[in-house]
Amino acid sequence: MRTQAATCSAVALVRRVVDGFLRGDCRGRFVCSGCLVKLTRDHLDKSCATSEIVRMMDHIFTAPNPIAHAPASTCALCARTNRPCLGVPLPNAARPLPQYPHA
Ligand SMILES: [Zn+2]
Repeated sequence: MRTQAATCSAVALVRRVVDGFLRGDCRGRFVCSGCLVKLTRDHLDKSCATSEIVRMMDHIFTAPNPIAHAPASTCALCARTNRPCLGVPLPNAARPLPQYPHA
């Protein structure tokens, strides 16, 4: 018998939801904490208090590894700029982009 409170206290659960989302629908894009909180809450079917999810999201932003952390990026969902965002870069994004100095 697990209570919902016990489920909510698991940062690992929120991390898994965020990780799954960033590797799935939002692959290669950066999403701000506000949007991630909303998505996680929807995914968890509102069984978690939003304040709890916000707290855990802070925790993940503090130690996001292996997710990439961008201190000031543009969110792919709400398009707000200069937001702390998380994302999972595409595998081929590790290669330097081709440069066209005379384009
Ligand atoms: Zn956002």
